Amino acid sequence: MDIKYNADVIVVGAGPSGVSAALSVAKEGKKVILVERASYPGSKNMYGGAVYTTALREVFGDDFEKFKYERIINSHTWAFLNDEGSFEITTKNDNSKFAYAIKRFSLESQMIEIAKKYGVYYIPNTLVKSLIQKNNYVVGIKTEQEEYFAPVTILADGVNSILAKELNLRNNYQPKDIILSVKEAIKLDKKTIEERFNLKEDCTNGVNKQYFGSDFGSLKEFKNLFMMTFLFTFKDTVMLGVGVNLADLSKNQLNINEILDEVKKHPDIYPLIKDGETIEYSAHLIPEGGYKKIPKLVSNGVIITGDAAGFVNGVHFEGTNFALISGKLAGESALIALDNSNYSQNTLSIYNKKLEKSFILKDLYSYRNVIEKLYSRTNSISVYYPKKIKEFFEIVTSANCISKSKQFREYFFSFFKDRKIDELFKDIFAGFRCALDIFFGK
Ligand SMILES: Cc1cc2nc3c(=O)[nH]c(=O)nc-3n(C[C@H](O)[C@H](O)[C@H](O)COP(=O)(O)OP(=O)(O)OC[C@H]3O[C@@H](n4cnc5c(N)ncnc54)[C@H](O)[C@@H]3O)c2cc1C
Repeated sequence: MDIKYNADVIVVGAGPSGVSAALSVAKEGKKVILVERASYPGSKNMYGGAVYTTALREVFGDDFEKFKYERIINSHTWAFLNDEGSFEITTKNDNSKFAYAIKRFSLESQMIEIAKKYGVYYIPNTLVKSLIQKNNYVVGIKTEQEEYFAPVTILADGVNSILAKELNLRNNYQPKDIILSVKEAIKLDKKTIEERFNLKEDCTNGVNKQYFGSDFGSLKEFKNLFMMTFLFTFKDTVMLGVGVNLADLSKNQLNINEILDEVKKHPDIYPLIKDGETIEYSAHLIPEGGYKKIPKLVSNGVIITGDAAGFVNGVHFEGTNFALISGKLAGESALIALDNSNYSQNTLSIYNKKLEKSFILKDLYSYRNVIEKLYSRTNSISVYYPKKIKEFFEIVTSANCISKSKQFREYFFSFFKDRKIDELFKDIFAGFRCALDIFFGK
């Protein structure tokens, strides 16, 4: 092949996976071009609000200490919503620094600045339209104005990855494999947030709440709606969002904006955002196909990483850590190919081996049935068990002069009265199946 290369590696997309990939290559003194369609960092990207620090530290090394954040997220609540309120479980550790609340503009800006310091050549405001292929190898990219050539191209272009589709590497996603999420950034003054969420003035603590259940307000009529609601505290904003899979939205003919409006009115959520001003509204897709929908990850001259490869664990709201670490592994694999001057699929498949050794494929494998099982028990998770949990705690907390034994007995038998026995068994089976998969995972 007689090609004049502009760089050793081209990375498409400057989200967490792309910057991480570019950085790991540049740190070894290789020439990297990082191309991003957005005119300013992070403007095309969206998340709930927490970037996980273990992964950030692993990718950025000593530079990690320089990251500016708005709050440290170290309080987690799982809440099951019902019509009147919720049942919540919270874990809190003010000494933990396990996740940072950083807005995407700030996160991407900081990551890109560090990458540039190590020599990454960053090209913003440039859409990669297609890949250039020669003799069955990807050898570069075509933007609207230019062509750039490199022996290895890393696709970190996010959930829609048109470039992976161009190479026919993507498994076909069905609507059930994709979540549509919308989020509002709600501005409140800093003091109000600190009072409402019991936070310190120095921003060393912050809250993430994940809400389950849809049995409230006008959503009550949808008995099979699986939705996840999230809330994150920032310095002077609260991020509130909701995600529903595309199949559920279309089956129920629902508009996700209306779901978020309904969530905002919930009696447990409204007081947290009351008098706030919505200063930003965003929407994004999340790949949720998991292990079964992982695309072919390498081909001659090309590697796929991050959301483009579907590396997300939706059950735990983990995406940035998968993106950062998979990007790093993609970069390391490109370096091995460069050292061997061999860019074949065979050489680049070291990436698959690295992923298998990491938590990424291990977690995706052990959760391979979980999302499917959750969806198959939507009514149980969204409506029935939130109701039963509420009833249980009403017995625990009600001093109503009826013997507790009687109440707990009635409660126990109510499962068999108001639930068909086969439904109960299906719930138990689904729960066990998920637990066993995770326990005996890789
Ligand atoms: C609502 C929501 C909440 C979430 N909450 C969390 C959370 O709290 N914590 C967490 O860890 N994860 C969360 N995630 C997941 C996390 O945001 C993603 O997993 C992560 O951003 C993926 O990073 P990435 O670099 O692979 O892709 P992205 O961040 O999507 O970046 C892809 C980049 O590629 C660029 N691009 C795309 N196509 C082209 C092209 N043709 N040419 C040039 N550039 C291109 C895009 O502009 C973009 O900058 C959430 C996601 C959503 C949607």
